[in-house]
Amino acid sequence: MSKPAFHAEYACSEGCGFRAPLLEVVYRCPRCQGLLEVAHDVEALRSVPAEEWRRRFEQRFGSSRLPYASGVWGKHEWVLPELPVEDMVSLGEGRVPLKPLPRMAAELGLASLDLKECGVSPTGSFKDWGMTVLVSSVKHMRARGVPIRAVACASTGDTSAALSAYCAAAGIPSVVFLPKDKVSLSQLVQPVANGARVLSLDTDFDGCMKLVQQVTQDSGLYLANSMNSLRIEGQKVVAIELCQDLGWEPPDWVVIPGGNLGNASALGKGFELMLALGVISKRPRIAVAQAQRANPLMRAFRGGFKELLPMQAERTLASAIQIGNPVSFRRAVRILKSFDGVVEEATESELANAAARADREGTFTCPHTGVALAALEKLVAQGVIARGARVAVVSTAHGLKFPDFKVGYHRGALADVTSRYSNPPVDLPAELGAVRNALADL
Ligand SMILES: *Cc1c(COP(=O)(O)O)cnc(C)c1O
Ligand SMILES: [Zn+2]
Repeated sequence: MSKPAFHAEYACSEGCGFRAPLLEVVYRCPRCQGLLEVAHDVEALRSVPAEEWRRRFEQRFGSSRLPYASGVWGKHEWVLPELPVEDMVSLGEGRVPLKPLPRMAAELGLASLDLKECGVSPTGSFKDWGMTVLVSSVKHMRARGVPIRAVACASTGDTSAALSAYCAAAGIPSVVFLPKDKVSLSQLVQPVANGARVLSLDTDFDGCMKLVQQVTQDSGLYLANSMNSLRIEGQKVVAIELCQDLGWEPPDWVVIPGGNLGNASALGKGFELMLALGVISKRPRIAVAQAQRANPLMRAFRGGFKELLPMQAERTLASAIQIGNPVSFRRAVRILKSFDGVVEEATESELANAAARADREGTFTCPHTGVALAALEKLVAQGVIARGARVAVVSTAHGLKFPDFKVGYHRGALADVTSRYSNPPVDLPAELGAVRNALADL
């Protein structure tokens, strides 16, 4: 098969015209300080008919070999078309289930409700989708002589887990900055196990972010946070895979939790590309869901998106989105405007109960997915999401990463949460009579 000359490079996302090759170590536009994006040669991609793209992607889905065994690299022409296969660092990310929640859909009066289970993934969160792209690029840059000694990130837990796993696979040193006592024990132990240098700092995510940006300014430490637009290229595949799951018929609404807002931006970027290539023809609407305790986007939305007022994020069960100064604010606002989007928020009780409600249908949701599901319930109640709509919710992490949240909920022990679906284990003596009694109502 002859390869058409697909090409991608960095471009300033603020449209000032700055461009740079993907081999360059650059995170922000040197002219205007805007974030960068990976800009594809869409004309070249258009030379392949939409029908052919769909056919290719479907055919690759069955592969068990790299690059196509990866849900992300199965779409490599749309991700990083020039990255050689030998530099791909994959742990088998992507190709995750689309889990229907028919009972919740019926109760809410929706035509369908599906969870895109992005946390059914090597390190248990959607961060793997972006990290495979970033670490592969680093491997490629190092192979081409770019002096990168290690890769570093600040994290609310899942980014560091993904970074350390992909770096471990590639044999590249990694450094992670974590806010002390603000990530789950599972999230802390993941980078420890994968051999990262773990710095546990007495601050919050925003504090870690500030420091990692400073240390990665000089030296050969490469910055892996989501201001790095390489990650967005992998995460945008969530939108593509979702449409593929739905027979290329996008849902009416996609609900997604947002913290730093890279993921919401990536979702929109994925839809934009499919629309540009004619692979889908309908523009879904996007709802970003925030924890009420860390809701700068919600506040900006109420103010008509005129400005972002960074805030001190308060402690929330949705720890991965406990962010007061989201780096991708501007790009997320652009996406929300272009997808007729809305923002909704959830209290601690709302997010915990919504997560538990979905669990009753056989999934195991993280608190952030709970935020999205609670926002969905509220948007349906307000009539913003109409009855009869087809809705997809992006589930961002596996619930197994948050045992304290799950156990605490069912014990009724979470602060500020009234557990409506609490289902604690029944303590019994090991006697037949007692057991029969306990099962009498089944
Ligand atoms: C990172 C993360 C989010 C938020 O993604 P952003 O790109 O920061 O908005 C949501 N849920 C989980 C589980 C995460 O790890
Ligand atoms: Zn610029």
